[in-house]
Amino acid sequence: MKDSILVINCGSSSLKFAVLANAGQDSLIEGIADRLGTEESNITFKFESKKKTILLEDGSHKNAVAQIKEWLNSHPDIADSLVGIGHRVVHGGETFSQSVLINETVLDGIKECAQFAPLHNPAHIKGIEIAFELFPGLPQVAVFDTAFHQTIAPEQYLYPIPMHFYRQHHFRKYGFHGTSYRYISQRLEQVAKGSDQQGVLVAHLGNGASTCAIDKGLSVDTSMGITPLEGLMMGTRSGSIDPSLLSFISQAEGISADAALDILNKKSGLLGVSEISNDCRTLEDAMVSGDQRAKLALDMFAIRTAKHLASMSTTLESIDHLVFTGGIGENSSYLRQAICDHLKALNITIDSTLNETAPRGDTTNISSASSGTNVWIIPTNEELMIALDTISLISH
Ligand code: ADP
Repeated sequence: MKDSILVINCGSSSLKFAVLANAGQDSLIEGIADRLGTEESNITFKFESKKKTILLEDGSHKNAVAQIKEWLNSHPDIADSLVGIGHRVVHGGETFSQSVLINETVLDGIKECAQFAPLHNPAHIKGIEIAFELFPGLPQVAVFDTAFHQTIAPEQYLYPIPMHFYRQHHFRKYGFHGTSYRYISQRLEQVAKGSDQQGVLVAHLGNGASTCAIDKGLSVDTSMGITPLEGLMMGTRSGSIDPSLLSFISQAEGISADAALDILNKKSGLLGVSEISNDCRTLEDAMVSGDQRAKLALDMFAIRTAKHLASMSTTLESIDHLVFTGGIGENSSYLRQAICDHLKALNITIDSTLNETAPRGDTTNISSASSGTNVWIIPTNEELMIALDTISLISH
């Protein structure tokens, strides 16, 4: 085994990690430290198809990384092959249009972008600083969710509000899930060789959900905005709404604008409409047992996703491929069908048998014979992109 990369996704209360070896091809171990900062904090290691969870005595981020280091030390073949650490960073603003080797200037840049990701970026900085302390000498790379969308043109990324907000404060659409979209674009190039790859629509549908239009490999539009709240209806986020609702909600409930925003981020979407759950699987089960609220929430999710895909197609010359990815996009045949049923006017249709029988975890073309667009299920792999970027930057 050689060239192992430790991939870290450090959030405010959780820290996901993985070690990928041999040019990212082999995933050696993965895991998550959860409920950090509480008394129930724990860390789970998934290694050789076995799971092991241990309670963290001190639920700090540092203790979580120390446990990862201890695990690596007890597997010296893996520890010795470690050549770098790749960090997922949510917001790179306009400063970062690609992945970078981390140094003091880069850390300052990530700190500056924290104004738009006040929960995420400070947690990433913590993860980076701890990793520098516990793995001294290992080069570290930052891979940004926003970077892939830096090719979007001003007429797409500007909000139609007074221009000084952009000039002075950089208020604009940034978009997220960029690492996933970059992976999908490259994977599509491998699997759809020989076909015209010019215009691609991608629906990354997970608990967070967004769409992206990709023209010849470059992002030309995406549904999320200055924060991930814009765009599609999601697990707990409302997605795009009339902004006046913010003030109506805060007046109706007697709460601050920030508290109203919290409702749009954490209590809306599938959860808010169904009043059952934000989890697609739970809602599908409820729908099958006849729950109308679950069906309404899922059908709203489908129609709003289809609308975003249709509007995004205006940035492309042709819609050659439509890709479903993310936990819902890869696994929910019900939602893939419901979304494509709303796209018939664009001559996008799928084969219902192929859609329902698509093997989990595989790349599959589910288009119907008459569809004008190739419709794909492609499992995303953000960890692989982070590992590959890290290898590429540390070997230069
Ligand atoms: P995120 O990374 O944004 O947290 P994921 O991409 O892991 O989210 O997706 C989580 C979503 O995928 C959940 O709503 C979950 O219910 C849904 N999901 C996972 N497996 C299935 C399945 N077999 N059928 C329907 N939905 C599924």
